Amino acid sequence: MNLFGKKSYVSIDGGERTKKSDKRRQKAEPSIPDGMWIKCNTCKAIIYKKEVTEYKLCPNCDAHFRMSPAERIAVTCDENTFEELDAGMRPQNPMSYPEYDEVIKKAQKKAGIPEGVVTGRCRIHGQDTVMAIMDSHFMMGSMGSVVGEKVTRAVEYATAHSLPIIIFTTSGGARMQEGIISLMQMAKVSEALGRHDEAGLLYVTVLTDPTTGGVTASFAMLGDIILSEPKALIGFAGQRVIQATIHQQLPEGFQRAEFQLEHGFVDRIVHREKLRDELGKILRLHSQPEREGTE
Ligand SMILES: [Zn+2]
Repeated sequence: MNLFGKKSYVSIDGGERTKKSDKRRQKAEPSIPDGMWIKCNTCKAIIYKKEVTEYKLCPNCDAHFRMSPAERIAVTCDENTFEELDAGMRPQNPMSYPEYDEVIKKAQKKAGIPEGVVTGRCRIHGQDTVMAIMDSHFMMGSMGSVVGEKVTRAVEYATAHSLPIIIFTTSGGARMQEGIISLMQMAKVSEALGRHDEAGLLYVTVLTDPTTGGVTASFAMLGDIILSEPKALIGFAGQRVIQATIHQQLPEGFQRAEFQLEHGFVDRIVHREKLRDELGKILRLHSQPEREGTE
């Protein structure tokens, strides 16, 4: 009798929680499902899919929908200049975490890439640069050993070739299925960036929605120049966690790009349609010949 009672309580509770968290996820994540029509999760407008350009903006409220690395490359790099680095690197299950292998397979299918970051070199307005683009469609852009290793190698490649590096961040934080190995990536990437910095090279971060957790606490905030897309969520711990810890109401727009700009965490907010030109300008201003010419 007791057992029966306990069982039904757990199942109802669990069911409700799943429903709620599903709803919350839908609300928090602007996405474009397949089909002719899409719904903007910001303004709730129903939009004809063909009205959404390659920049993936809401034609009604200008919300910046989340992009895949391939879409990002298409609107950022000079045509056909992107050469991928470490394309074959695949994740393992170093902690033998239960069901992690299945989670990885599902994420690979959903995002269409083997891990949560794509790295490579390319040109932007004729300027050579290394680039890393994280993907929120892959386990919410969580950082495991492969993400950390690929970003580190991209930074080391940039250092070895005296190139700048641009990292587009989006992440829910460190990947819990890889435990301490995930957390170690924060230090590893930061060290590589330290050596890149010592070589006098430029590092630009572009924060996109959402950039949180261990990625914010390491390389997202280490850029010489930190750009952000409008209204991107940028923070370390989630709002609910902070609110429950400090027992205070958080201010309006807390952890959004505009709030972070005001508080000195972001240097400039750039609309997605202007981002390629902005990056091209920054690269040109910091390129070696230009610097010699102006001295
Ligand atoms: Zn909208």
